[in-house]
Amino acid sequence: MRHKAGYHGRFAPSPTGSLHFGSLVAAVASYADALHHQGSWLVRMEDVDESRSVKGSADEILHTLEAFGFEWDQPVLFQSQRKTRYQEILQWLWQEKYTYACSCSRRKIARQARMGLEGPVYPGSCRQTTTDKVLGKAIRIRTNREEICFEDRIQNRHCQVLERDIGDFVIHRADGYTAYQLAVVIDDADQGITQVVRGADLLLSTPRQIYLQQLLGFPRPEYAHIPLVTDAQGRKLSKLDRAHPLSADNPLPSLKAAWAFLQQPPFLQQPGSVQEFWQWAASAWDMGRISLPSCRQCATTQTPSHPQ
Ligand code: GLU
Repeated sequence: MRHKAGYHGRFAPSPTGSLHFGSLVAAVASYADALHHQGSWLVRMEDVDESRSVKGSADEILHTLEAFGFEWDQPVLFQSQRKTRYQEILQWLWQEKYTYACSCSRRKIARQARMGLEGPVYPGSCRQTTTDKVLGKAIRIRTNREEICFEDRIQNRHCQVLERDIGDFVIHRADGYTAYQLAVVIDDADQGITQVVRGADLLLSTPRQIYLQQLLGFPRPEYAHIPLVTDAQGRKLSKLDRAHPLSADNPLPSLKAAWAFLQQPPFLQQPGSVQEFWQWAASAWDMGRISLPSCRQCATTQTPSHPQ
């Protein structure tokens, strides 16, 4: 039944701990959307930042996903094995002069910068440097004043002017690791991803990713950012949060809770197994039912209004 249309979705957990209810919600949304569109669905292990990877957690996440009935269509892609490819792209961006090396400390940047949408906007101190000595330095990409807009399938239209709202951002870190923003763009393109369904914490990253896609001539996937699961204090659940453990031995209650969180149609008949749950999910899934929470954070992130 799968793989009819040119739909290619993915789930991309970072192996920094066990899967929690918040990541399950993201996985359910992306898998149900792929099943509903008879598309393919991939899992990518985002272990690009090896300093944050927790030993054993990649295996544990994959085991949990299996127990919850997720099936992926290709072997799992590990970012830690893609360094040569990232280096090749980084080299190209460098040759084209889209990037420059920067050794400014966070403290120095914070002192000089004004605040943007996600913290201090790098003031561009090293923009004019022409040094080829990059060892131990971060590599930043030059941003510009063109407005980048996209239509999110859930969060509607979003626009950013990167130079104003974010600043020249790091694509290769001083500690030698490729930054998430670059790795994710290369991987989504190489894996032929057409639909990105993920948590709303990455909504503000999307224009950076679109910008890199434009520079690299990669196609732009469609995006859907699902509302975040928060704790009683309104904070995003983290993998360190032990309050919402997932039980691989008893997956159905968590799957049903994720379905309810995503405001999906009530079951006509209660699923008695994980297979029955996914059968229902494949036919009943309706992304249009997901409404935005009316929260303070959403109000401030939807329309950036920053002075020029
Ligand atoms: N690796 C990211 C996370 O675990 C997700 C990145 C993405 O979906 O683009 O939050």
